[in-house]
Amino acid sequence: MHASDIEGDLSTVLVTEAEIHAKLAEIARRIETDYAGKDVLLVGVLKGAIMVMADLARELRLHVETDWMAVSSYGAGTKSSGVVQIRKDLDSDLTDRHVLIVEDIIDSGLTLSWLLENFASRGAASIEVCALLRKPEAAKVEIECRYVGFDIPNEFVVGYGLDYAEKYRNLRDVGVLAPHVYS
Ligand code: 5GP
Ligand code: MG
Ligand code: MG
Repeated sequence: MHASDIEGDLSTVLVTEAEIHAKLAEIARRIETDYAGKDVLLVGVLKGAIMVMADLARELRLHVETDWMAVSSYGAGTKSSGVVQIRKDLDSDLTDRHVLIVEDIIDSGLTLSWLLENFASRGAASIEVCALLRKPEAAKVEIECRYVGFDIPNEFVVGYGLDYAEKYRNLRDVGVLAPHVYS
């Protein structure tokens, strides 16, 4: 959707759809090299990762399986609680699998650090992370993220899967919400 009414709610566009697609193509080439000859299980973290999963998976010239996990971390607000709860578990058994976690954004890193520990205990052969966005200034724990799209400032962003109270996921670009939206 390109309707100006939702795009008008952004004060700044940080990353455009074209920039995202170009970056995902670059990352896909690296993944193809790194995982040559291996079966990959892409695990998307709902709901924010829906767009990056859809575009990254279609860029990959590799056999991949996809699975989804839903965890709670933010609720409707904009601050990380640090409390992670499984809302929907994987359908797949991770034993001996090469798992690539696909995330929208690494903010505090708390969700991913919890997921990495949880997945490690399930016997995966390897676990790596691909995140479209990362906020280096917001890190509370260090996450080893093999594939990072863009480092962005420590601001709450929406679009390309990322929501504010479940809205704005359908924006094509990633940007910062204008103050009038919050009030
Ligand atoms: P973390 O545990 O790293 O703090 O972030 C957990 C999740 O919160 C992210 O995967 C993402 O879904 C959501 N989140 C973090 N920062 C933002 C942001 O700036 N905007 C939106 N819409 N969601 C965010
Ligand atoms: Mg997420
Ligand atoms: Mg959210």
